[in-house]
Amino acid sequence: MQDNYDLHCHSTASDGALAPAEVVRRAHRQGVTTLALTDHDTTAGLREAAQAAEDCGIRLIPGIELSALHAHQCLHIIGLNIDAEQPILIDGLAKQQSLREQRALKIAEKLQKKGIAGAHEAVTRAAGNGEITRSHFADFLVAQGYVATQQDAFDRYLSKGKPAFVPTQWAGLEEAVGWIRAAGGVAVLAHPLRYSLSFKWMDKALTAFKQFGGQGVEVVTGRASADDILLSLQLTRKHRLLASVGSDFHTPENQWVELGRLAPLPAGAEPVWSLFLPELPLVADIH
Ligand code: AMP
Ligand code: MN
Ligand code: MN
Ligand code: MN
Repeated sequence: MQDNYDLHCHSTASDGALAPAEVVRRAHRQGVTTLALTDHDTTAGLREAAQAAEDCGIRLIPGIELSALHAHQCLHIIGLNIDAEQPILIDGLAKQQSLREQRALKIAEKLQKKGIAGAHEAVTRAAGNGEITRSHFADFLVAQGYVATQQDAFDRYLSKGKPAFVPTQWAGLEEAVGWIRAAGGVAVLAHPLRYSLSFKWMDKALTAFKQFGGQGVEVVTGRASADDILLSLQLTRKHRLLASVGSDFHTPENQWVELGRLAPLPAGAEPVWSLFLPELPLVADIH
């Protein structure tokens, strides 16, 4: 069977629509052979995912997506092949989760001031045992008819500078990378072009990221164009970082982002999985 990697996706442990086992089974049906489940600031879905992966015969890489601050900007750092039992990581995640709880209360208060009631109850119910994210608030605003789409919810209420945005003291970049490394994992900057930052800013940030122990950048992501892929590849080559691939799948309802439907790594990219699956062939042999 042809190797098919998807190293970034979400389950109900954070803002995904499917339970961890369902994500794994769907990935398998879509032809994925190596999947990383990377929920926001939690490893709670990994045990269920690992069991499902064993049952259907797909390789599961234990992962996470951490929210981290660098120069006042929130960046998402993927941890791949982490040991979810590692105490430094566990402590760090407890802090991030408590920040998420506090932030959810504050977002709901801000919405209340705009005349929108009941948000906290709704997102708490929707998230269940999983982490509350802004996606849950976006879904609530859509369901209540305040906005037409998730994107509108972010554009009008939830994004930086909008009335329900709450600045949050996430872990610093060095700290977040440190937790991943302490847990034996590989730190990868997620979706580098989705932050709307200049090339120069990203260039500087990657210098710091690498200094802190970061090792990879997502070169192929869910909706990346051919140009996006080449630009991200340039960043990895300039900083001698490895390349990752991940759909950032959240829900079957988004027809644009599916598990296992990623473009292959471009020529010249060094795959990040060579670090944790060293028995696999490198670069040119991958696709
Ligand atoms: P949080 O980590 O709680 O701030 O939530 C971030 C999540 O919200 C991201 O992982 C995306 O799933 C989603 N998100 C962020 N920005 C947007 C946007 N502009 N449109 C739709 N979803 C978004
Ligand atoms: Mn998300
Ligand atoms: Mn992200
Ligand atoms: Mn993600």
